[in-house]
Amino acid sequence: MSIDTASAHNTRIIDGKAIAARLRERVRQHVEQLHRDNQLVPGLAVVLVGEDAASQVYVRNKAKQTAAAGMSSFEYRLAATSTEAQLLAIVEQLNADPAVHGILVQLPLPKQIREAAVINAIDPTKDVDGFHIFNVGLLATGGDAMVPCTPLGCLMLLKDRLGDLRGKRALVLGRSNIVGKPMAQLLIQQSCTVTIAHSRTRDLVAECQRAEIVIAAVGRARMVPGEWLAPGATVIDVGINRIDVGNGKTRLVGDVDFESAVQHVAGITPVPGGVGPMTIACLLHNTVIAACRQHSIEPPQ
Ligand code: NDP
Repeated sequence: MSIDTASAHNTRIIDGKAIAARLRERVRQHVEQLHRDNQLVPGLAVVLVGEDAASQVYVRNKAKQTAAAGMSSFEYRLAATSTEAQLLAIVEQLNADPAVHGILVQLPLPKQIREAAVINAIDPTKDVDGFHIFNVGLLATGGDAMVPCTPLGCLMLLKDRLGDLRGKRALVLGRSNIVGKPMAQLLIQQSCTVTIAHSRTRDLVAECQRAEIVIAAVGRARMVPGEWLAPGATVIDVGINRIDVGNGKTRLVGDVDFESAVQHVAGITPVPGGVGPMTIACLLHNTVIAACRQHSIEPPQ
């Protein structure tokens, strides 16, 4: 690769790691200010049920970064055989604890526990994941919702790269409650013209080619090749897929084929190092917002 080609390639990469580090630093400064001016230390409680390996890594990272931001971190671990009633009892206890401003129950939960029952038992003002039905409704109606961390992180990456999103044609690939749907709501709020695609969408290629912004949240390794994307498009790849690369080794790839896409789009997030770091940084950001709202303090933007 020539120096010119390499530098064009680099400017197309949206560096989620660097943008997340800046957000974490802003959060740390807000936490410091809340402590100094209001004697308030935001606290985040994370509840993990079972021994899912990926969930354990996420929970460990969350606790580490919460502490690094100067916040209190509380961790609850329950056996995989725990009952819904046992988990609900912990949620009740955390709802009532004034040192806890944010509650996150790590998903997925074992099958004997109904996820919706647990999520909707969390005090909506402490629901830093933004999955409570009350926050879903607030987001859909333009209220002061707790916004789900991954779509919020995607929006921050887009605004960092593009600034004003008004009028842009955006395609959200995927319609899950945790990524696709809230992402579409956020883009509507930004006055984008939004299309939501899913497994029953006809002519996905044409939908992709029309879009100025593509958010891929499908969970299929490299499903979107570069030639599906418009030159000049900005692509946020949410997918996290582990693939075999031979010799018993694996690596993570996104839903977009990065190598072919980066050749002609205007901007693209890598996997890893794109949306992932933003998700945890947004969790910290949401915890500060929750603490401020619970104490009637103007929250950071
Ligand atoms: P879900 O499995 O809940 O949703 C996937 C969506 O993709 C569904 O709406 C499904 O359509 C759609 N889909 C599946 N196959 C196709 C296809 N061939 N063509 C078009 N659409 C398709 O996944 P999530 O939303 O929970 O997660 C998506 C990805 O994002 C995963 O890889 C996940 O690991 C990752 N993720 C990353 C996070 C991060 O922090 N970076 C956080 C959360 C998720 P239908 O509804 O019709 O079935």
